[in-house]
Amino acid sequence: MPTGKACVLEQFKASLQLRDYPLPVMIEPGAALVRTEMAGICGTDVHLWKGELPITLPVILGHETVGRIVALGDGLDRDWTGQRLSVGERVTWNSATSCGQCFYCAEKDQPTRCPHRRAYGIGYRCDQAPHFLGGYAEFHYLRPRTTIFKLPDDLPTEALIGAGCALITAIHGIERTGIGWRDRIVVQGAGPVGIAALAVAKSAGAGEVIVIGAPRHRLALAKRFGADHVIDIEAVGTPSERIGSVRQLTDGYGADAVLECVGAPSAVVEGMEMCREGGKYLVLGHYCDAGPVLWNPHVVTRKQLQVFGSWSSEPRHLKAAIEFLRATPNKFPFAEMVSHRFSLAQANEALAATASWNVAKSVIVPAHT
Ligand SMILES: [Zn+2]
Ligand SMILES: [Zn+2]
Repeated sequence: MPTGKACVLEQFKASLQLRDYPLPVMIEPGAALVRTEMAGICGTDVHLWKGELPITLPVILGHETVGRIVALGDGLDRDWTGQRLSVGERVTWNSATSCGQCFYCAEKDQPTRCPHRRAYGIGYRCDQAPHFLGGYAEFHYLRPRTTIFKLPDDLPTEALIGAGCALITAIHGIERTGIGWRDRIVVQGAGPVGIAALAVAKSAGAGEVIVIGAPRHRLALAKRFGADHVIDIEAVGTPSERIGSVRQLTDGYGADAVLECVGAPSAVVEGMEMCREGGKYLVLGHYCDAGPVLWNPHVVTRKQLQVFGSWSSEPRHLKAAIEFLRATPNKFPFAEMVSHRFSLAQANEALAATASWNVAKSVIVPAHT
């Protein structure tokens, strides 16, 4: 029986183990088998590895993946946009699938809140067939209802993986918040989500974007992606100093919208003070429960703030991301973010590199030796 290799999280905070699993003999109607070309390592993978999110092990991590079609199940002949699919083609897909029929999917049009939603690389055990339900593997099985996108030849795999789930997360969050033309925006955080939020804010019409974060090489990347100002939290060390810097850069008013891409509760308290009166605040970075914070709700009433939350993304955001990456490779060079390549056997090093925050983006290339 033909098998494929996968790197498996069997125990939290322990080394991933290289395992062989049998490839599916039958592809269900509507499903597909793909050979993994590149899998991105997301910051969320580090949190999953540490056991900070409620998942059932063993799991093949990896929810940012590009692959080539090996086999298609009956009835699957077109991608989400209606383009014809065939064996050998390069595709990507949304990591999560929703049911399409529940209260949130069908009535409220918020499929990211579907209670039946499950994500590849997070929500599937890999000790049961079809096993290959995460990116850190030679193969990936795409279950029926997966929203698949054929990739245009002129879009490098690196661009898509470099942008990763951060870009589609930012597109969704900024869509929910709404950015006005020439708005002055603050992005808290210069990690992948912060850089993506900067790019989306700029292209959504923002006049000026101020990025707050560290270390210096991430702020340099923010500059490369068009940040008008950067505030280094290592140099401007206190919240009141940073709030003062934002005021200074916005004629004393504060930002029209502040986008939190940090994941630290204290950033929210600080960021709301960076909003102008009547401004908007987006909490985008809290994928993990980092605990509560002492906070005075009076600030929301007094400043007449609009506060937004956003979880993950919908298929249309991935479609938009593909078009966006294809149209703006020089302005927003996401492909350049892929800085470290690892083989499947080096998945632990890849994860450690992402955890260290010293690399822009590490990826697994199963064919890499
Ligand atoms: Zn992710
Ligand atoms: Zn649903």
